[in-house]
Amino acid sequence: MQLVQDEEEDISVAESLDDDGLPSLELSPESKDRGREQNGNKDRVIEAAEGSFVSDFYRSGTDWSCLLEKNTQERPPERKLKQTNLFELWGFKKPDDSNAKPRVSSLSLKRTRTQWISVESVNDRMNPKVPCLGNRSNGGGNNLRRVCPFYKKIPETSFTVDAFRYGLIEGCSGYFLSHFHCDHYAGLSKRWSYGSIYCTPLTARLVKKFLLVNPSFVHPLELDIEYVIDGIKVTMLEANHCPGAALVHFRLENGQCYLHTGDFRACKLMQSYPLLVNHRVNVLYLDTTYCNPKYRFPSKEDVLDFIVKTTKNSLKRHPKTLIVVGAYSIGKECVYLAISEALGVKIYTNASRRRILQSFDWTQLSGKLCSCGEETPLHILPISSLRPETLAEYLKTYKHKFTAVLAFRPTGWTYSEASGNQLDLIKPSTRGNIMIYGVPYSEHSSFLELKEFVQFLRPDNIIPTVNVSNAAHRDKMQSYFQEWLKVSPQWKVSPTSTRPRVN
Ligand SMILES: [Zn+2]
Repeated sequence: MQLVQDEEEDISVAESLDDDGLPSLELSPESKDRGREQNGNKDRVIEAAEGSFVSDFYRSGTDWSCLLEKNTQERPPERKLKQTNLFELWGFKKPDDSNAKPRVSSLSLKRTRTQWISVESVNDRMNPKVPCLGNRSNGGGNNLRRVCPFYKKIPETSFTVDAFRYGLIEGCSGYFLSHFHCDHYAGLSKRWSYGSIYCTPLTARLVKKFLLVNPSFVHPLELDIEYVIDGIKVTMLEANHCPGAALVHFRLENGQCYLHTGDFRACKLMQSYPLLVNHRVNVLYLDTTYCNPKYRFPSKEDVLDFIVKTTKNSLKRHPKTLIVVGAYSIGKECVYLAISEALGVKIYTNASRRRILQSFDWTQLSGKLCSCGEETPLHILPISSLRPETLAEYLKTYKHKFTAVLAFRPTGWTYSEASGNQLDLIKPSTRGNIMIYGVPYSEHSSFLELKEFVQFLRPDNIIPTVNVSNAAHRDKMQSYFQEWLKVSPQWKVSPTSTRPRVN
C-alpha cells in the first residue's frame, strides 16, 4: 500500500548515531536543500550557551559508539546494550534496571476516570531470545543496526515515542505512536511483536487496518483522558496536525512532567489545555520542523481563504477547469474540504485514499467523497505527483470534461519570504493549460507559533526532535529557545487565571 508520508518533515532515516548520539544522516536531495536554506548564513552560526542543558548533552563527549552494535551476527542475541549514563548526564534518575527484565506479572493499565483494564504483560510477549533486528533495511550492506536515539526515550520511564524502526528496545515496555505518518510509524508491520503500542483511537484503527499490526498489541488512548500505565500518568492531547495526531503528556509519580509534541501546529487553544496550564513541563520534546525565523507563514484559515478565492476566480474565467489538490494520504483534508464546501462539489480520489479517509469516521468528509472522477471538478492526488507533465497526462483522462488544471500544493516548504504573508503575491508555475500554486498551508508550527508555545509553556528544558542531525542547526535552535525564555514572564498565566502553576 501507499506509504503515508509527511513531506514537511525531515524524513531522512537514521542508520547510525554520530558522535553526539544523534542520527548520522545521508540526507535526501530535498533535505539537503532544506539544510542549505536553513544554514544559509553561515556567518551567523550562533553558539549555544555554555552549560545549557542541551549543549551539555549534545557536547557531552560521551562515547556514544557503545550504542552501536557493529555486527549483530557475531554478537549473542541476548547481550545487553550498554546505555552508559545518559540519564545521569541529563540530570535524570537512571531508569530502574528491573524494567529491562521480563516480568511475569500482568501490566495494569488504569483508566483513571472510568475503569481498570488489564492486559497481558508486554514483556511476556517480548521474546528475549529473538535478536534485536527490528524492521530495518541497511541498504549500504553494513551490519550496523539502528539504535534508538536518546531523544525518543522518555526519561525515568520504560516508554519510547515514535521509535518503531529499532525493533526491540531493551527496557521499553510501551511504544507510543504520536500519529500515522510513515516517518513516525516506520517499522510497524504485521510482524510487530516487541511490545504494546499506545496511540489515539483513530491512529489505532489505521495501524490495525493498513499496517495489519496484531490488534492485541494496539492500545487506543482517548484524547484528554488520563491513563496510568506502569505507574506513569499519560494523557494524549490534540496536536492540530493530521487526524489522530496527539501530543503525549507524561506525569511521573515524583511530579516530573514530560511533553512530547510528535508533530504539531501550536495554536492558542493549546494554552487552555488544563494539563499544560496546571503543571510545569520539565522537558519538552519539540517538533522543530520550522524552527527558523524565515518561516513566518500565515494562518491555515488565511491560506484556505486564498485557495477558495483563487479557485472561484479561475472557474469564472475557465469553467472547464479541473481543480487538483495535492495531499498526503493523511493530512491536508481541510484544504479540499474547504473547496468542496465553497463550490458545493464532491471530492474524487482513488479507492485506497477513500478507504483511509472513510476510516476517520469524519462524516463531514466521508459524505463528500465520490468514486467517479467525471462527477466532480475537484480531484485529490498524491502531493508528489503535482508536476506539469504528470498533470497534463492526468488531464487527458478527462479531456471530454475538462480543458485546464488548477493545482494546489499545500505545504509550509512552499513559503517564500518574498511573498511573506501576502498570499496574493504568490506566483503560480504555469505550463500551457496547467497552473500549479504552492501554498504555505502547514500542519507544523511556524517559527512564531513555536516561540509563543514555548513562552506559554516555559519548560525547564527543550529537546528538538527535527533537524537535529546538524550541530549548527541544534545550536541555533538552542539559542532561539534561550532567547524566548529570557523574555517570558516567570510564571505561565492561563487565559482565565493569574494563578501560578503547581509544581
Ligand atoms: Zn506528521
